[in-house]
Amino acid sequence: MNNDISEVLFNEAQIEEAANRLGKQITKDYEGQKPLVLSVLKGAYLWTADVIRKIDLYVDLEFIKISSYHGGVSSSNEIALVTDVQSDVKGRDILILEDIVDTGQSLQFLEDLLLSRGANSVRVATLLDKKEGRKVDIKADYVGFDVRNEFVVGYGLDYKGLYRNLPYVGILKQEIYS
Ligand code: 5GP
Ligand code: MG
Repeated sequence: MNNDISEVLFNEAQIEEAANRLGKQITKDYEGQKPLVLSVLKGAYLWTADVIRKIDLYVDLEFIKISSYHGGVSSSNEIALVTDVQSDVKGRDILILEDIVDTGQSLQFLEDLLLSRGANSVRVATLLDKKEGRKVDIKADYVGFDVRNEFVVGYGLDYKGLYRNLPYVGILKQEIYS
């Protein structure tokens, strides 16, 4: 599996450092609040596990599953809600945990959904921010790393369901998907 990667962008130590940095900032920013951490499946599950352990606050944890990529390497405009949250978000301060923000369409979809259900606030902590890919005007509040416009896998991010278990984020060799 490691042989399919052309370049490691962020290793385990760097990711841990990012989780620590964001966790500290989130702890500060939400002082006195009890945010609802909303993890976006499947890509953000490792990031979620690492970040929530760095947040020194009472938090609720929920999962939501949306689909946008349909297994390919470029974003799709159609976003579907696959598995909904199990609790009421009305009045809650929601912190979305995402693996990567690319076009921004998934995030826009989620923000609209949560606000339409009466969420009090919605912020986003993303492991990766692919700013060049943006198609809608939306910004992540907390960013682990900026990433250039290349298809990355690992640490939760997949290609056709694989590579999520790589402990680092890397670039997939082009020959794998071309
Ligand atoms: P957006 O709606 O912002 O275009 O896309 C967000 C979703 O697309 C991410 O949550 C992720 O699942 C997927 N995605 C975007 N860029 C990449 C990438 O480089 N690699 C992988 N594996 N998934 C990506
Ligand atoms: Mg995702």
